[in-house]
Amino acid sequence: MTRNPYQIWISEIILQQTRINQGLDYYLHFLEKFPDVETLAAAQEEQVLKAWQGLGYYSRARNLYKAAKQIMTEYNGRFPDSYKEICNLKGIGPYTSAAIASIAFNQPYPVVDGNVIRFLSRLFRIKTSSSEAETRKYIYELAGKLMADQPPGEFNQAMMEFGALACKPIVPLCGECTFREYCLALKYGETDRLPVKKKSIERRDRYFHYLVILINTGVGKTGILLRKRIKDDIWKNLFDFLLIETDTPDILENYSERAEWSGLLNQIPERKFRITRMYKQVLSHQNIYYRFYIIRTGKKILTSFPIVDTLDLESYPLPRPIEKFLEKLLK
Ligand code: SF4
Repeated sequence: MTRNPYQIWISEIILQQTRINQGLDYYLHFLEKFPDVETLAAAQEEQVLKAWQGLGYYSRARNLYKAAKQIMTEYNGRFPDSYKEICNLKGIGPYTSAAIASIAFNQPYPVVDGNVIRFLSRLFRIKTSSSEAETRKYIYELAGKLMADQPPGEFNQAMMEFGALACKPIVPLCGECTFREYCLALKYGETDRLPVKKKSIERRDRYFHYLVILINTGVGKTGILLRKRIKDDIWKNLFDFLLIETDTPDILENYSERAEWSGLLNQIPERKFRITRMYKQVLSHQNIYYRFYIIRTGKKILTSFPIVDTLDLESYPLPRPIEKFLEKLLK
């Protein structure tokens, strides 16, 4: 069992939105690239985003990077060892702080993740929605009381693992459960109804039309025009293509006349292009529908956007849909 606060931090952040079997390879890869706070703080943000590519929720990676710099400047490279100080690091909330403080530094802060919520909601038959702050507070206090004189790190890990492996979301292992005599959800036949589910999230639909400009740059060489996403929006600081966003899924017949990119597209009046079908990517609060308009040209283009040799794309952090599309296109 690891006690290294840096490693606990990285694993907790990766596992916030990712299942353990999907996250493990990313975790190992990330630690290989950035084995400690110092290495992470000294990297370029693009390298960090690249190592994170595919995990989504890129603000987590940007915050990891900022917090590593914060540890170097404010704590002289030493990982802070109190719950409050850990909470002050960029991107670390009470949950992650409790995990690090209890597992790495043995401090008595309960960790209440989805697994713990499910287990305690069933064991004590908690019937209010776990998305409500009051319910969470109640469960947090309950976990704190149960922790009492137990070693905090072991207690928290046992609670999380029990929820994940025994008190599972679907078909919990009640038949062989140590708590079956006390479990109120089992007694009242409510294991499938608890915890009370949150209301489903309303997702906003967005329609992305990507202009993929491929430029013949020499014998057997192709450049591709990339654009860094600098606005406060999804995939910030990752690279994609020229983008036109619309309110409807309809194909853009006159995309080259759109004011956003007309100056650039006017430089390549003779172009070969094809349009792909519409794809869909579901994010936590948005549905992204996207298609690609693939434009090939032999002309030189004057632009401030980077034109990257397709063999060098490896070093650019890309949103997962763009990465998948390029894998297919360049195969
Ligand atoms: S008896 Fe079933 S529902 Fe209750 S704690 Fe055990 S596994 Fe969970």
